[in-house]
Amino acid sequence: MKKVALLGATGSIGDSTCAILRKHPEHFKLYAISAHSNWQKALKLIQEFKPRHVVVTSQESHRAIQQAIKPGLTELHFGANALDALVQEPEVDMVVAGIVGSAGMSSVLAATHAGKTLLLANKESIVAAGALVMPLAKKTGAQIIPLDSEHNALYQCLPQDYQTGSRPKQVSHLTLTASGGPFWSKPLSEFEAITPAQAVAHPQWDMGAKISVDSATLMNKGLEVIEAHWLFQMPEKDIKVVVHPQSTIHSLVHYIDGSVLAQLGTPDMQIPISYGLGMRDRLSNGGAFLDLIALSRLDFLAPDEAKFPCLALARAAIKSGGTAAVILNAVNEISVAAFLSKQIKFMDIPKINAAIMDRFEIAQVESLAQITAIDQEVRALAQQMILQGKTS
Ligand code: NAD
Ligand code: MG
Repeated sequence: MKKVALLGATGSIGDSTCAILRKHPEHFKLYAISAHSNWQKALKLIQEFKPRHVVVTSQESHRAIQQAIKPGLTELHFGANALDALVQEPEVDMVVAGIVGSAGMSSVLAATHAGKTLLLANKESIVAAGALVMPLAKKTGAQIIPLDSEHNALYQCLPQDYQTGSRPKQVSHLTLTASGGPFWSKPLSEFEAITPAQAVAHPQWDMGAKISVDSATLMNKGLEVIEAHWLFQMPEKDIKVVVHPQSTIHSLVHYIDGSVLAQLGTPDMQIPISYGLGMRDRLSNGGAFLDLIALSRLDFLAPDEAKFPCLALARAAIKSGGTAAVILNAVNEISVAAFLSKQIKFMDIPKINAAIMDRFEIAQVESLAQITAIDQEVRALAQQMILQGKTS
């Protein structure tokens, strides 16, 4: 019986994780959850799973949950520091990092510090703090299993004894597939009129708002190139990206002899999460099986850099190194939020991201405190730019 701490339990990754835990009560106990603003959903999860600990990071939700639960079974905690303490609890066997954005960074580092098995969905933490997380995992023995479907696919195509944080042997390069989001076939002339509702309506995956917009700009693929660079210790030039609108091949490992191993499946996050929770053992999850005849074809295209400049920004951030990815990740969180609240247009996202990248000096990554300070500084400047209408 593995005790699981599920951070971001009320989100999309939280839903898929809970769906698997429900099917395997003999293997897993949902020991702890975290929630932010959706206290109603958190209450339902508390009633259903009766976790020992609940961490709530929004004051309003904390108050609402405190009034609603009976003291006894579940201990309620408040704030980001409580997240860090929770993942370090000796009772916790596995941490599922399902918080969105750099809000999930500190708890990812804390879990790594405690040497936990870390099932990583929160890509932003690796993008910004990979230079801290990966060496720390080596030191503490923390096993980092990627849940992001592409990275999980790569992990599935590597030998059973492969552990993230080292360059896989006999591998020439990696290919990450991208669905292309909702706009890969839309002409650039129509990008001006893209609305938040169109951008979050992903054709293949059902995900949270931020990652859906990132998929539409291809920033998501850019963040994933950075994530792959850290997890698999591969140089940027050896991480290729191909647009594959059917989202059936989730990624490919190219071995030095020309063999290519790929992982295929329906676009369902239960598959990578099952593989993570099973720690490479296969768990049934009740999802649909792939029907090749119904699918009939698989398409591949080169990403269009004029329509999707965010991908090149991410590649440039790897080449610059140091805090470049911290800056890109932080500004992107702000520009995506501004687009979702209709303060800026779709194509302002790459413009603001690029403008802020140009404005900041790049330093060596030293500590979480330094990354957090830069993250805050970038957010403040990006917000100021947006308020002043200076989007380029
Ligand atoms: P979501 O918006 O559905 O859920 C986000 C979760 O984060 C919620 O539980 C929320 O309570 C929590 N949260 C939000 N702000 C917070 C804060 N300030 N402090 C603490 N907690 C906070 O997002 P999602 O789609 O589940 O994505 C979660 C992460 O997983 C992201 O990093 C995303 O890139 C990654 N991911 C998601 C998918 C997917 O299919 N949804 C696939 C691959 C990777
Ligand atoms: Mg992905």
